[in-house]
Amino acid sequence: MTKIKKRFACNECGYVSGAWMGKCPECNSWNSFVEEIISNNVDVSHSKDNKETQLPVKIQEVQNLDEDIFILDNDNINIFFGSGIVPGSVILLSGEPGVGKSTFLFLLAKYIKRSKKIYYFSGEESVNQIKKRFDRVGASDSSLFVSNISQVEKINEICQKEKPMFVFVDSIQTCFSSEVDSAQGTISQIKKCTQILIDYAKMSNAVVIIVCHVTKSGEIAGPKIMEHMVDVVTYFESDYKNQFRILRSRKNRFGNIDEILVFEMKENGLDIIDNPSSFFIESENLEDSSIGKCKCVIIEGKRPVIVDIEALVVPSAYPMPKRFSEGIDVSRINRILAIIDKHLNENFNNYDVYTNISGGIRTSDIGIDLAIAVAMISSKKQKPIKNDNVFIGELSLTGGIKKVNQIEKRIKEAMRFGLNNVYYQDEKNQIKGIIFLKDYFQ
Ligand SMILES: [Zn+2]
Repeated sequence: MTKIKKRFACNECGYVSGAWMGKCPECNSWNSFVEEIISNNVDVSHSKDNKETQLPVKIQEVQNLDEDIFILDNDNINIFFGSGIVPGSVILLSGEPGVGKSTFLFLLAKYIKRSKKIYYFSGEESVNQIKKRFDRVGASDSSLFVSNISQVEKINEICQKEKPMFVFVDSIQTCFSSEVDSAQGTISQIKKCTQILIDYAKMSNAVVIIVCHVTKSGEIAGPKIMEHMVDVVTYFESDYKNQFRILRSRKNRFGNIDEILVFEMKENGLDIIDNPSSFFIESENLEDSSIGKCKCVIIEGKRPVIVDIEALVVPSAYPMPKRFSEGIDVSRINRILAIIDKHLNENFNNYDVYTNISGGIRTSDIGIDLAIAVAMISSKKQKPIKNDNVFIGELSLTGGIKKVNQIEKRIKEAMRFGLNNVYYQDEKNQIKGIIFLKDYFQ
């Protein structure tokens, strides 16, 4: 009878322990230990360290990477990564299973210049399945090579020999190292595989893109530890209607964070949307009005995006009224409700409040405060707002409206779409606090 051996690894730093621990002695994280099963059949044939010893290089002789950044045939993707993709960088492409991570890789392949060799290692699908999907995307003239190898030492060996400029690994959960004695997808495995891929990228100057499955509830281990290790972390979000995808950069050593790429899900794959503003607002007559809905211009990355803020305020049947919010932090909603109560004498104590941003986009831009307040008051009082009215501003606890960053850029975007009535705060303090809404809703 074989006894199953177990150990525990820290999700934050990869520290391994024989017993579960509440606090990691290495990085001091709490409740970060995850169980790993140790397998007995370890293939030790590859255990030797095959990394070449590299001597330090004279600084003048180090290549200047900025000059040969990989520019793709798609400006949106170039902007998303900074101003192209930096050679030798390691990019993490994370998101829930089925959200479109592999499809995005095909899209990238389509926009990578034909002269650049791409090696795609997939432990998720057979090469025939990959071929089918690849044909659908219509990237047929790129130099993409596919393989089902998922042992990281072999991937490393092949790449060192064949020298592709791009290496896609799909996914880190199916990848494994023969030097680690736990199963695929465990923290120890993920850490080791990621390290080997990073070493390869730095040594060869190739771009390595690693697909990583995560779930909202975080029951898949490992992604956190990878985030510390790689250069760029991107995350796929999808809306509740499954109609579009947002790829967001959460970490980027070479560019802006919170940069977004917006895609529409089509039958043949993902379509990049050049103009997110036109996508997030409903097409409507600007002369008309709506109740419980108004516009705001948020900044995502470097990009201004027009969104509709929607609110529904209804009498509550509960002793504790509901606060339900999609895309906006509920604590923010509560704060705005308190400000309205105090400074406009308008309370929502006996009302359920639902808010969301059109298209299911999520934002942490503080410039949406004013628009949320306006949408909620409009819904409660059943007062319409004209469709060309835009509200931009952060609310202060004292009832003031604060100027937000990049206001000129936001106003310009609104004007571009014919939204000519923009309410915002500027240096001259044009709006004397939230009290102006009293007149507005008269
Ligand atoms: Zn730790």
